[in-house]
Amino acid sequence: MCRLLFCLLALITLGETVKAQDIHSYANPSAVRVRHLDLDWNVLFDQKILKGTAVLTVERISETAPLVLDTRDLKIEKVETSAGGANYAPATFTIGASDKILGAPLTIPLPAKANRVRIQYSTSPGATALQWLDPAQTAGKKQPFLFTQSQSIHARSWIPLQDSPAVRVTYTARVHTPRQLIAVMAAEDLSGDARDGDYQFKMDQPIPSYLIALAVGDLRFKSLGPRTGVYAEPHTIDLAARELSDTEKMVMATESVYGPYRWGRYDILVLPPSFPYGGMENPRLTFATPTILAGDKSLVSLVAHELAHSWSGNLVTNATWSDFWLNEGFTTYLERRILETVYGRDREEMEAVLGLRDLKEEIDTLDDRDEILHIDLTGRDPDDGSTDIPYEKGALFLRHLEETFGRERFDRFLKGYFDHFAFQSITTAQFVDYLNKNLLGENPKLARKVPVAEWIAKPGLPENAPQPSSAAFTRVAEQATQWLQGKTPADKIPAANWTTQEWLHFLRYVQDHITPAGNKPIETPGSRPALPSARMDQLDKAFHLTRSGNSEIAFQWLLMSIRNRYEPAYPRLEEFLMTIGRRKFIKPLYEELAKTPEGKARAIEIYRRARPTYHPIAVASVDVVLNWPGN
Ligand SMILES: [Zn+2]
Repeated sequence: MCRLLFCLLALITLGETVKAQDIHSYANPSAVRVRHLDLDWNVLFDQKILKGTAVLTVERISETAPLVLDTRDLKIEKVETSAGGANYAPATFTIGASDKILGAPLTIPLPAKANRVRIQYSTSPGATALQWLDPAQTAGKKQPFLFTQSQSIHARSWIPLQDSPAVRVTYTARVHTPRQLIAVMAAEDLSGDARDGDYQFKMDQPIPSYLIALAVGDLRFKSLGPRTGVYAEPHTIDLAARELSDTEKMVMATESVYGPYRWGRYDILVLPPSFPYGGMENPRLTFATPTILAGDKSLVSLVAHELAHSWSGNLVTNATWSDFWLNEGFTTYLERRILETVYGRDREEMEAVLGLRDLKEEIDTLDDRDEILHIDLTGRDPDDGSTDIPYEKGALFLRHLEETFGRERFDRFLKGYFDHFAFQSITTAQFVDYLNKNLLGENPKLARKVPVAEWIAKPGLPENAPQPSSAAFTRVAEQATQWLQGKTPADKIPAANWTTQEWLHFLRYVQDHITPAGNKPIETPGSRPALPSARMDQLDKAFHLTRSGNSEIAFQWLLMSIRNRYEPAYPRLEEFLMTIGRRKFIKPLYEELAKTPEGKARAIEIYRRARPTYHPIAVASVDVVLNWPGN
């Protein structure tokens, strides 16, 4: 066993010397590397395109190599080169064959001394990074909205660049919009307060391409603290500011453990509901779904997560998408630490327990190859690697290190790690090497307790993986059991002060423990027992779950309603699917519907109307679930 583990470790470390090749980029940064971008766009809502120029400043490591960029469906109008200064000369270029996942390479031969390339281009209306919303899809319903989502490899659909997380660039941008709208970017805003349709930004810190982000809409701003604030539509801004009022506290909590916040401001942009993710950690300006606005701060763990990325991900970045767990595992671990500092250990452990359960459920459905932290994505879309594995398994691995070496020692290690690799993109091999030298090596006896190679390179979980536990959840489970056995009626369950997490635990516990006693279960496909509608009705009458305004609770209840064929919740299910585009919610609901012929028919009927309002990333996922025509 030791030998095998040693071999695995050696293999991982070997990867470092063969400098990480990013299989998801055509670019050749080891020969010609883009260092800086100057961007200038007109935002054309009527055509759903951006039209403008990108000026790329490049470093020539090889004097003869051409510049190779990533593109996807860009219309390249003109390319020019310059040896500095304003004198540009026309240049030739070729666009290679287009690959479904990678897009097409743009190759530009460079004359001697040329170090700048100016590209005049426009995006296509189907650009995968851009979502153009009609007024009806916004909260205010009066103005259109545009937002970008560049991760994983979508930046190439709106900017011709070296679209690899291993290539870091600084940039400036100028954005021309209709006068009534404002533009915001994940960068320093140089525009002042005027709403004049002309906005300027700069990002002086080198970032990977997937963190370049833009949004344009009818936005308002509210300050939350000396360096924190929130942008949202006028309709949402007050609610958002109340819900996110702990943001400054969270920044301070993170700084106290992991060192200074290095990005200047930390603002949050609350997007319209079609945003496909919970949040996106765009530097200085997190993009967030409005579904976190529960009214009681119970879903702000998302802010803790995106904020934590300011250290893990944005400061120290995965060099390839196979190293994605370096971003997400570290961030999920940090997120829980922030929650513990701001809201206490009980709350943190509830989230950890829910996270572990999600992880175990997902492990039951994944292929072995997809349960590996350092995942092989050959021939696949990197978005496919975005399962619970990099997040929850990665976080559990770090928790294992913390529990083994002690919190104080592990905190020092992580702080040193962020300092050592600040503003760099690193591979899993580089991390393992650093871990060996700076933590494991100093105490081999403790190190033997953490099977590092197994954590990183094998499927499933090591036998001695940490076990989070929550006393509050134990009490909730007792209540659920009492109710399931018919000993406590629904309206006598003492749930008045339950948190969202306790509700989620209750609902899932009930679903997982439906037994014949007292429930006369009906048979459903896959012979899973179901709760009779009368029992679902008791819960609904007591707690108004069908009408819950908390997106997580509503989601869990609707999922349960599909499984148990609880028809009174169906109109709400349809409304939910028609108004929310967050993939985490809609994909499992469509999956559950698709398990029966009548459910699938209902799903297709709803999806036909909802699909045009969803983001391309969400559409790509649901199309597969429903075998949508063409997929
Ligand atoms: Zn994340």
